[in-house]
Amino acid sequence: MEIFEAIESTEHEQIVFCSNGDAGLKAIIAIHNTVLGPALGGLRMWPYGSEQEALEDVLRLSRGMTYKAAVSGLNLGGGKAVIIGDPRKDKSEALFRAFGRFIDSLHGRYITAEDVGIDVNDMEFIFQETNNVVGVHQVHGGSGDPSPYTAYGTIQGIKAALQWKFGDQDVGKYSFAVQGTGHVGINLVRMLREQGSKVFVTDINEESVAEAVELGAEAVGLDEIYEVDADVFSPCALGAVLNEETIPRFGFKVIAGAANNQLSTEKAGDELAARGILYAPDYAVNAGGLMNVSIEFEGWNKERALRMSRTIYYNLTRIFSIAERDNIPSYKAADRMAEERIEIIGKLKLPHMGKPHRFPGRERNHS
Ligand code: NAD
Repeated sequence: MEIFEAIESTEHEQIVFCSNGDAGLKAIIAIHNTVLGPALGGLRMWPYGSEQEALEDVLRLSRGMTYKAAVSGLNLGGGKAVIIGDPRKDKSEALFRAFGRFIDSLHGRYITAEDVGIDVNDMEFIFQETNNVVGVHQVHGGSGDPSPYTAYGTIQGIKAALQWKFGDQDVGKYSFAVQGTGHVGINLVRMLREQGSKVFVTDINEESVAEAVELGAEAVGLDEIYEVDADVFSPCALGAVLNEETIPRFGFKVIAGAANNQLSTEKAGDELAARGILYAPDYAVNAGGLMNVSIEFEGWNKERALRMSRTIYYNLTRIFSIAERDNIPSYKAADRMAEERIEIIGKLKLPHMGKPHRFPGRERNHS
């Protein structure tokens, strides 16, 4: 891949290659779009097979963050970072502090957070070098684990989809197939069961399945989940589970879950629409985690996080309305809504120039 060609074709603003031999750091920061605000997106650590693979991943993920923030009504742009390395072997204080300095050198144009392979302890090292990090531990006034807020936001997306499809958003009247009972999935199962919903679950992790069964869910096999008799399919594990092999097996009326990149291809999104299955676009449904960390800018508190997550209901309703108005599948409507917002707001504002954030209530005293 020619680097400038890749940057141009994906419409990125800036790519930063970060290297520090002493710390063993090889990282890429991709800033996709800062029209709405500073680029916010997690840091992923992964043993990529090649530098090319790492670049492709960070370009794809950072673009996705632009759309997620825009459709969610946040004043944030899209960015993402990757460290090339094995999270089980290659982590060190020096690695994360070196990376933190690179983030700091961007003066707030990019703000990092946790993603795959990174935990709150790694964030502490980054936080020693820069204030431009969210999702830090609550002892520093941060927002902590975003999963409960992602699950709460997912319920709001589910309600909007039920209301649109059936004219009744009482989740207790419906049945659900939840794929993945990890951090988000188990919180979702708990909330659904509290409302009295019938819930089927599956996961490769037997312990978490047992936890869901304790909550009153019924366990089914890994492949069986695609064919259970339920109104709603809620993917909360892997990407690309909506594909040409699974879709023909669906008896579901609605798809609404937290997993990222659920559609294997655009064609899969067209196929769901053609079959009359209402797809709630993943990046709009799972924005509760992003909303939760974004509140750290003004001082995090739980009530504000929950209140903001409830806006997911209205975002989804707007997406479904655009799909109906323009006679397009819902995944295209979500992209259109995001692009329209960036265009309109972009006319009003200059790109974010990297002004420092204050983060009231947060404490960087490590002594
Ligand atoms: P997690 O790793 O805690 O949970 C994922 C679960 O999926 C695990 O329990 C794992 O065992 C299970 N799983 C893996 N392969 C499976 C398979 N083949 N079949 C069934 N289950 C399988 O992750 P999480 O934080 O709960 O996130 C779940 C999804 O939601 C991911 O796609 C993530 O990107 C997305 N998401 C999470 C957040 C958040 O706040 N955590 C925010 C936005 C999006």
